[in-house]
Amino acid sequence: MSDASARTEKVVILGSGPAGLTAAIYTARANLEPIVFEGLQPGGQLTITTDVENYPGFPDGVQGPEMMELFRRQAARFGARIEQKSASRVDLSRRPFAIDFDDGTKVEAAALIIATGASARHLGLESEQRLLGRGVSMCATCDGFFFRDQDIFIVGGGDTALEEALFLTRFGRSVTVVHRRDELRASKVLQQRAFDNPKIRFAWNSVVDEILGGEKVEGVRLRDVRTGELTEHACAAVFVAIGHTPNTKLFEGQLELNDAGYIVTRPDSTYTSVEGVFACGDVQDWTYRQAVTAAGSGCMAAIDAERWLAESP
Ligand code: NAP
Repeated sequence: MSDASARTEKVVILGSGPAGLTAAIYTARANLEPIVFEGLQPGGQLTITTDVENYPGFPDGVQGPEMMELFRRQAARFGARIEQKSASRVDLSRRPFAIDFDDGTKVEAAALIIATGASARHLGLESEQRLLGRGVSMCATCDGFFFRDQDIFIVGGGDTALEEALFLTRFGRSVTVVHRRDELRASKVLQQRAFDNPKIRFAWNSVVDEILGGEKVEGVRLRDVRTGELTEHACAAVFVAIGHTPNTKLFEGQLELNDAGYIVTRPDSTYTSVEGVFACGDVQDWTYRQAVTAAGSGCMAAIDAERWLAESP
């Protein structure tokens, strides 16, 4: 049953990173008059990145925020409406789906595209925030290239930390993995590869006490968690790889999520466990997490939604 106080939309898109805005471009061009609700971080994770050099079509690179502004303009050009608010509750048990927003308004959606992304976990240090994009990075694939022949530190003991450490050895002179325990969480195969790599060192039982530097990263101060001893080390970059949290709280108990909280999509599609709800980008991708793969899956979600709407009674 429809709620008289809510307006009904054909396609609602939650999230405004590369996945959400690509879904908006495609659904707008299919005359589905999409509406995008930007969420808490308009433009998504790219808005906290500096240079993006691996997105095809930008041979000279582009700044993350500028790229998201281009995505936004392209979606708006085809009539996508973009509103700066966040969903606070969704009801996927009825159709049209009901969405409540933080400002008290409600919307109903015939089809829903979820592109709420994931948030990189941070260490929580003031220096980490201040030097983000100036030597502190959450993404080795994006930023490793900038630290050729430099000493690099990476924090974390999981698969991501080791995979990124291995990747960073292509550029850095040395890569030091800082882990808070004396045993890694990562899979044995990645552990062995890291142990075998002569450029990789380990700082065991250690956490980052402070990232040092004024305008850019110049070093790191580590604290031994057993003895409390503080040591300072010169380096040009600190990569933080302590995991991501998918932004799926709204959907708990309504959509199938995996153990790590990501939305499960049917293989080779963006279909979720609820008909008419599609998911794209990092909210359902814990493997690739790139702007270009997010945009690709946003396109898939738009096409899936368009076909589903055409076939639904
Ligand atoms: P993860 O498995 O949750 O590992 C996070 C790591 O960061 C852990 O070692 C953890 O330490 C450490 N950590 C967490 N919070 C910390 C803090 N505040 N300070 C210092 N250290 C902290 O995350 P992930 O490595 O991103 O992996 C996420 C999922 O993706 C996993 O299921 C992983 O297997 C999968 N993945 C797979 C591959 C692959 O197969 N090639 C590649 C990447 C990711 P503790 O160990 O002490 O908890």
